[in-house]
Formats: sequence, structure tokens, C-alpha cells
Amino acid sequence: MTHQILDSVLDAVGSTPLIRLNRIAQAEGLQCNLLGKVEYTSAGGSVKDRIAKWMVEAAEKEGKLIPGQSVVIEPYLRKHWHWACYGMCCQGQTPSFLHTEQMLNTTDKGYSVIITMPNKMSLEKEAALRALGAEVVRTPTEAAWDAPESHIGVAARLQKEIQGGIILDQYRNINNPLAHEYTTGPEIIEAVVPTSSTSTSFSSGKVDVFVAGAGTGGTITGISCAIKKTHNADCIVVGVDPQGSILAYPDSLNVEGAGSQYIVEGIGYDFFPDVLSRDPRDVNSWLKTTDEESFEAVRKLMRIEGLLVGGSSGSALSGALRWLKSEEGKIIAQTKGANVVVLLPDGIRNYMSKPWFLKMALEAEPSPLAIQISSILHKS
Ligand code: PMP
Repeated sequence: MTHQILDSVLDAVGSTPLIRLNRIAQAEGLQCNLLGKVEYTSAGGSVKDRIAKWMVEAAEKEGKLIPGQSVVIEPYLRKHWHWACYGMCCQGQTPSFLHTEQMLNTTDKGYSVIITMPNKMSLEKEAALRALGAEVVRTPTEAAWDAPESHIGVAARLQKEIQGGIILDQYRNINNPLAHEYTTGPEIIEAVVPTSSTSTSFSSGKVDVFVAGAGTGGTITGISCAIKKTHNADCIVVGVDPQGSILAYPDSLNVEGAGSQYIVEGIGYDFFPDVLSRDPRDVNSWLKTTDEESFEAVRKLMRIEGLLVGGSSGSALSGALRWLKSEEGKIIAQTKGANVVVLLPDGIRNYMSKPWFLKMALEAEPSPLAIQISSILHKS
């Protein structure tokens, strides 16, 4: 790892570590390398930092975002519309860290930001957005995506009425998958390709399997393109979609639990975003996950690996483990040196007040040590 002074916080977006999940692999009886791409170490704490930076910078280059005039309005995909965007964009008066490189010398440029987000989204996300200076508008979680009162409908209404309003639209913006094709994907490839200083003995030297959840689908589509075009055309890409969402393919997978609400944030939808590739050559296989198995996998990632990840990371891991146990995945699971990369999109600090997390953290069975502490402290 190199250490250097960065020009601004924007330079701390991405460059996240790929970490061995050896203890989980061992507990599950896997011979392959199970590797987690840990995105919460990015400056804003989420995989979404990357696309925010790319979309804003691309819109500036295209002249669509006008400093001092534009108001960035973005529907938050039942998830993080992430920090780099609101951090980069908020408030014209804010000093240089909020601006892109070209704007560093011009402290009077900048954008206001409005985020529309469903009530389901955590308070932590709203608080972080407000702290960064964004306006947040809550919308009913149960509203269909095309209803006027949904976060997408409200964003569209605001854009019409607010002068300078612009929606960068992560659902359709090609810079969403491109951010992953040019940053996240190459980082993963670089980490697994052997160099003279890394041993190749327990690694195939390539990404054999890549597993990720899909919200907009930008992450899985962009990383799949990077891996398949430049590195390993035979990599198996596995998509994870919560029960109640319709993103999985073939459609028959979406029948069980159709229409049900799920608690995990950031993945799944009730329409197909344009940036999600449904081409089986890009995403080879899909799996449906439940809240229960996602949260159980979060618990494992915390307890066994010490990784403070959020709910959708649990979905990705539980999907990966299920795939590795399936007919399709069992040979890879037992292949020493095969690299199975799981994308872990964000951290638990976004969900600290959520009942599912509080239950997991505070209502666990007391450990023998806790019982011992209690008996020491309650001795008369
Ligand atoms: N998990 C979380 C917490 C997210 O915020 C997102 C972004 N939607 C994802 C997973 C999936 O990312 P994408 O939109 O690129 O599919």
C-alpha cells in the first residue's frame, strides 16, 4: 500500500481493499479463495462514492452542470445516493473540497443538492446528507416507482419547478457502470493478478467468480464488463436480488415472495434500471436472498471476520455461499486457488439505529464471559 498526501477528499474515493474471508471459507468447508471487496473504506463509506464522482465530473465536462446555478436532484435508490455526489456538490459557498479538480481555484462555484428518499432509508443516511448540506425529502416506501409520490416522481416534479434543477439519473446514466468498469473492476483484477512480489501458489491468478447485489445494476454490470473484456471472459458473474424485487433473471426466480417488502437497503427494485445488463453473458446466474439470510451473513462478517459491513453485503455473501453449494458452483468451491470475489457495498454505520442491527448486536445470547462478568459484578 502506498501512502501519500492527497489533494482532496475526492482522491480518497475508491482504492478499496480486497480482503480474504478465510475464516468464513474454512467454516463453510471451501477450498477456493473467498475474497471480499470492502467498499466501506472509501471516503464516503460506500460503493456509490465512485459513481457520484464520475457522474458529476462527466456532467461538468459536458456542460450540463453549471457551477453556481445547477441544483442536483437525485432520487436515492432505496439506498445511498452517495456522499461523493452530495459532498462534491453541496453549497456554492463551501470551500474547495466540495469541488472537482477544475474548480479548485474557484471557491464561488458549486451546487445545491436535493435528495428524495423513501421513508424506509435509515436515519443515519438522512443525517449524513443533511450534515453535508443537502436538502432531503422523504417519500412513501410503498409508492410504486412510477407513482407521482415516489422518490423518483417527486424528484421529477422538483426538477420541473426548480430553476437549474438537474437529475443526473443513476438509473440511466452510462457513467454509473463506467465508474465501475474503470475503477472497481480494474482494482479487483489488479489485486488477483500475480506480480513478482505475490505468490501464485494458492491463486489461479484470475477472478474466477464475481458476486454482487444489484440496485441500479451499475456495479455488477460495470465490473462484469471490466473482468470479461480485459481479464477473464470465462469469469462467472452471479447477481443477487432480494425476494420481493424483480431484477433476477429468468423471471420465474422472482415469483416466490413477489410484491413483498424487504428490509435490506440498496438492492432490488420494482422496475429494470437501464444500466442493469440482463444479458446472461454479463450476469451469468441470479440468486434470490431473504432478509434473514442477509442479516445472518452480516453477523458472520462481523463476528468471524471483523468486518463492519451493511445489510446488502450480507446479501452478497449469503448469495455467494449458496451459489458455491449449488450444482453450478460446487466444483469451484472445492478448487484450491479459485478466486471468488464478493462485493461488500457499504458499512454498518449507516444502519446503527435499524431494529435488525440492534437486535443482532444487543439481544445475542450472553457469552460465558458475559455471564462471568455479571456474576463478578453482582457478588454481594
Ligand atoms: N448495496 C448498497 C448499500 C447500495 O447502496 C447499493 C447501491 N444501490 C448497492 C448495494 C447496489 O449497487 P448498484 O446500484 O450499483 O447496483
